[in-house]
Amino acid sequence: MEKQRIKDFPFYCFKHLSRFERIKHFVSSEVGNIGFSDSEADETVRLNRCRLAEAVGFDVHHLITAQQVHSATVKVVTEQDAGRGALEKESRIPMCDALVTNRRGICLMVLSADCVPVLLYDPERQVIAAVHAGWRGTVTGIVRKTVAVMAERFACRSADLLAGIAPSIGPCCFEVGEEVARVFGEMFPADPEIVRQGKCMGKFQVDLWEANRRELLESGVRDEQIEIAGMCTVCRPEHFFSYRRDGELAGRFGAGIMLL
Ligand SMILES: [Zn+2]
Repeated sequence: MEKQRIKDFPFYCFKHLSRFERIKHFVSSEVGNIGFSDSEADETVRLNRCRLAEAVGFDVHHLITAQQVHSATVKVVTEQDAGRGALEKESRIPMCDALVTNRRGICLMVLSADCVPVLLYDPERQVIAAVHAGWRGTVTGIVRKTVAVMAERFACRSADLLAGIAPSIGPCCFEVGEEVARVFGEMFPADPEIVRQGKCMGKFQVDLWEANRRELLESGVRDEQIEIAGMCTVCRPEHFFSYRRDGELAGRFGAGIMLL
């Protein structure tokens, strides 16, 4: 990823997506918490979102967010949904973890504090998606499901897709117990790249980046069209929020994409 700084607000962009002039995209960084929660005043979150929108160059009233629930539910949105969840959470798209559109001028954003945000772009059909893949979303195949919805609804071919796997908890820090390790072992059998023995007995290190890359490859996305940020949110307190590091009070950063 590359760091950009516009109007004093740094954010990150994927190198491969930055080549395309018909989209804007970002992963927010030091702009502050952009997730509505009990631990932050709504007004602060609104202000941070407005600053982010100004820096990246989208209309905050055309932002769409989802009530993320670690599901494999994908929703297609249109301009009628523009602004849902933009400046308050009540109106956000309920109970889903991936947003897809072929409409221009609306910014799809997922929020994260360790979970894996994935941005998808089809430059042939002009279709975009923003996906929230936590470990539960990853093992239920949210990314694969999103690629399937893009194909069904918009005739996207997976070989045309570009995918960006954004900063999130890395294999260095994602330690799980036997139960979660077993679920990954069933989803990705005999794959030592994804589940490794941890430092202590009964602990395992899981690589969510590789797991999501594998799902993209299995969906037909080409390896060279997948960019992994490779930045661990837990290891970078100066840049990203992390639930594992900061606990219940952790803020949220966002990954967003918009067709121009
Ligand atoms: Zn780490």
